[in-house]
Amino acid sequence: MEEKIKKEDADWKKELTPEEYHVTREKGTERAFTGKYWDFHGDGIYRCVCCGSELFDSETKYESGSGWPSFFTPVDGSKIEEDRDASFGMVRTEVKCGKCGAHLGHLFDDGPKPTGLRYCINSAALKFDERK
Ligand code: FE
Repeated sequence: MEEKIKKEDADWKKELTPEEYHVTREKGTERAFTGKYWDFHGDGIYRCVCCGSELFDSETKYESGSGWPSFFTPVDGSKIEEDRDASFGMVRTEVKCGKCGAHLGHLFDDGPKPTGLRYCINSAALKFDERK
């Protein structure tokens, strides 16, 4: 198990842009079709914007039509955490960074094969790292 990162909100606030902070530390959601990665097709790894942990591979990214970057699997199940989220009158599964607890987005079961899963992730929670 990887060591967890714990920081005060004030420290995260210093390191992140206001939007990154709102999404990852206050469970915010960027507006659909506005983030930098929903229509981005680079080859590489998407890392946590907060702690740099490897979360998703571009090879598992697909066009969901949702307006948010969507993946059918994380790089490794141990890199993320899933929580029940009953906010806004819906029951959803929240997806978080396993290392630093950053809110990333939500998990739905309407994804493509082979997993049938859709990890619907905010661009603001990710930092793309091009494959060398
Ligand atoms: Fe993280």
